[in-house]
Amino acid sequence: MQVQQNYSLKKYNTFGVEASAKYFGAFTTIDDLQLLLKEYSEQSTLVLGGGSNLLFTKNYDGLVLKNEIRGINTVHEDEDHIYVKVGAGEIWHQFVMHCIKNNFSGVENLSLIPGNIGASPMQNIGAYGVEIKDVFHSLEAFHLQEQRILNFTLNDCGFGYRDSVFKKRYKDQFAILTVTFRLNKKPQYNISYGAIKEELEKMGVKDLSIQSISQAVINIRQNKLPDPNVIGNAGSFFKNPEISNEKFQILNSKFKNIVGYKLDNGNVKLTAAWLIEQCGWKGFRRGDAGCHEKHALVLVNYGNASGKDIFDLSKEIKQSVKEKFDVELEREVNII
Ligand SMILES: Cc1cc2nc3c(=O)[nH]c(=O)nc-3n(C[C@H](O)[C@H](O)[C@H](O)COP(=O)(O)OP(=O)(O)OC[C@H]3O[C@@H](n4cnc5c(N)ncnc54)[C@H](O)[C@@H]3O)c2cc1C
Repeated sequence: MQVQQNYSLKKYNTFGVEASAKYFGAFTTIDDLQLLLKEYSEQSTLVLGGGSNLLFTKNYDGLVLKNEIRGINTVHEDEDHIYVKVGAGEIWHQFVMHCIKNNFSGVENLSLIPGNIGASPMQNIGAYGVEIKDVFHSLEAFHLQEQRILNFTLNDCGFGYRDSVFKKRYKDQFAILTVTFRLNKKPQYNISYGAIKEELEKMGVKDLSIQSISQAVINIRQNKLPDPNVIGNAGSFFKNPEISNEKFQILNSKFKNIVGYKLDNGNVKLTAAWLIEQCGWKGFRRGDAGCHEKHALVLVNYGNASGKDIFDLSKEIKQSVKEKFDVELEREVNII
């Protein structure tokens, strides 16, 4: 277990921005983690996964802890479900592929989301009508200050849209060590969302399976989303904002094409991409920081943008959406 000093994090964030960690250490066991925390007890800490949902706006003046706890193990089984416990350092998509291979259903719609298992509960990752809360059973997390392991059940996690207690109340307090998922033995297909149906037709699929759904999602994502290996980004930069129905009616009278989806609680969810596009940001570029030409919600680094360049751009976007629509955009990406 080697600790590096003034270590470049450029390779460790999908925006590909330059920033360094005062100290950088990887851990594969809880013992290693405890040793690191003991040795660097004066330092502030940042737990890092795949770096696909954060933006470094400056160097990190503390200890970056790269979580590399591995292992994918079936721990329990009943008539309908399989329980799989996964180390936080496993790559999310590899776990999805493990489930597809073994016919464990529930995560096929979440194929190809970048990042690691440990970060998946942080913002209750979701795509194509499924969120991890739908397959979540429990997790083990290490309290960094109190130095003890706690178990969190579904109710404890406070999952919401791209949200959990780990992003709010317990922000920066825990290192998630393992996550246990409850997967279905009998598949319950969910193909109503997005372009999955069309893609399945294009693929000529007659008999639905989790394999074909996963492949359809992979095809759509590969065609649709900018690949961080080609152009630095962290996926959607902002969340889709939720507003009251009254406010939506007012906006709708002024902006006839405004896109909104009615929620069960009576509120309306707006698409942040539409709001941003209406403010003229789509395809905008200043230096190497920009707003993707096809996806207004995705901020990008064309090469040498700094985290601050991208953050400043996000501030301007937020401000213009506020001025034009009186709607507050919330960043989905974690700003460091
Ligand atoms: C091209 C692209 C497409 C994307 N599409 C989607 C999508 O469809 N749906 C979606 O929900 N997200 C999407 N994302 C965002 C991202 O993939 C997810 O949020 C992912 O879960 C982040 O994982 P990570 O390991 O990279 O986390 P990191 O970026 O490393 O960390 C994110 C946050 O979690 C904390 N953290 C990480 N690991 C741990 C741990 N073990 N314990 C405690 N805290 C931890 C970090 O400190 C940080 O605050 C996309 C990103 C990209 C680049």
